Amino acid sequence: MSSSAKHAENSAAGAPFDFLDLRAQFATIREEVMQAVSQVFESQYFILGPEVKFLEDEVAAKLGSKFAVGCASGTDALILSLLCAGIGKDDEVITTPFSFIATGGSIAYVGAKPVFVDIDPVTYNINLALLEAAITPRTRAIMPVHLFGLPADMDPILAIARAHNLVIIEDAAQAIGSRYAGRFTGTFGDYGCFSFFPSKNLGGAGDGGMITTDDPAIAEKLQMLRVHGSKKRYFHEIIGTNSRLHALQAAVLRVKLRHLDAWQQGRQNRADRYRRLFESAGLSSFITAPARPPAKFEHVYNQFTIRSTRRDDLKTFLHAAGVPSEIYYPLCIHLQKAFAYLGHAPGDFPESEKASREVLSLPAYPELPDSHQNRVVQAIADFRSA
Ligand SMILES: *Cc1c(COP(=O)(O)O)cnc(C)c1O
Repeated sequence: MSSSAKHAENSAAGAPFDFLDLRAQFATIREEVMQAVSQVFESQYFILGPEVKFLEDEVAAKLGSKFAVGCASGTDALILSLLCAGIGKDDEVITTPFSFIATGGSIAYVGAKPVFVDIDPVTYNINLALLEAAITPRTRAIMPVHLFGLPADMDPILAIARAHNLVIIEDAAQAIGSRYAGRFTGTFGDYGCFSFFPSKNLGGAGDGGMITTDDPAIAEKLQMLRVHGSKKRYFHEIIGTNSRLHALQAAVLRVKLRHLDAWQQGRQNRADRYRRLFESAGLSSFITAPARPPAKFEHVYNQFTIRSTRRDDLKTFLHAAGVPSEIYYPLCIHLQKAFAYLGHAPGDFPESEKASREVLSLPAYPELPDSHQNRVVQAIADFRSA
């Protein structure tokens, strides 16, 4: 073999592939999904209804919460929870600035003030050493995010919330199925908020969301809020909105819920395989891969996120080699134009800002072919030697 042919064989270059290929997942469940969807069409029952109720009961049973209430999106799950808790003008809610915009956005959307606390640079979740100092007489709630699928450290958060009489609204949009101390995320707080956006670990065929709670009064109020504040149709007791889960989504999600454990195992296997491949390619100190978390925390890897001080060059290099990667998230919430009114400046949350400059998520979906994963690692190795 000529040396150039050998080089081509070893290099990561090749046809570009997808960061997330949901068609590969669909191919494994096509019959089940099409049959479930077809039944909804036969019933012509599209909004809420029995399919949604079945899904709510199945999610509640799976996660071990007393109630689950479907709604239109993960963002709405956060907004409805805030509204249900009566949080609005003059209230403050503590969360992190290194998250998807919906976290801080939902707080601002109900008229409350997002109060940011910096992250821990290893977990990307809220830094508990800084949490208590952010509490003021106006603080009403804490919104911990289980970012990328790794649970936030809930025991100390629960202790602080109890000591200060604060509501906990968990943003578990990226973390369905992850456990902390053996219990599912989303079942620790007063509200657990989930998203069924297609790229989440349990993704629908469009938008969808759900809120879990153990409190019957909260469940009842959420059920009213999502249908214009009514229990009995055309009689409205409170001001609500239209935020309903669709039967077609519920039908698809019920099928996919049955596969969630296997897919989660697949993601965890991908993560372990990345760690092994990085190790054997001698990349472990060149990039920082997510460490295997302590036993108390179960990571479900909605994203497998590495970091590098040369992140932007690395991303460009990978792209040229046909290897996809994504930046979650390139600009912290406190520095977004929409939040300029809060008066934050660069440097306010240094670990979050550093993360936004250094993180890079790699393809890690369960059906990712080994050969693609090998190319990702080879391309990073090529970048180091380039
Ligand atoms: C996806 C996501 C949301 C919002 O969910 P949607 O269903 O897209 O509205 C909220 N928070 C986090 C952390 C998310 O990743």
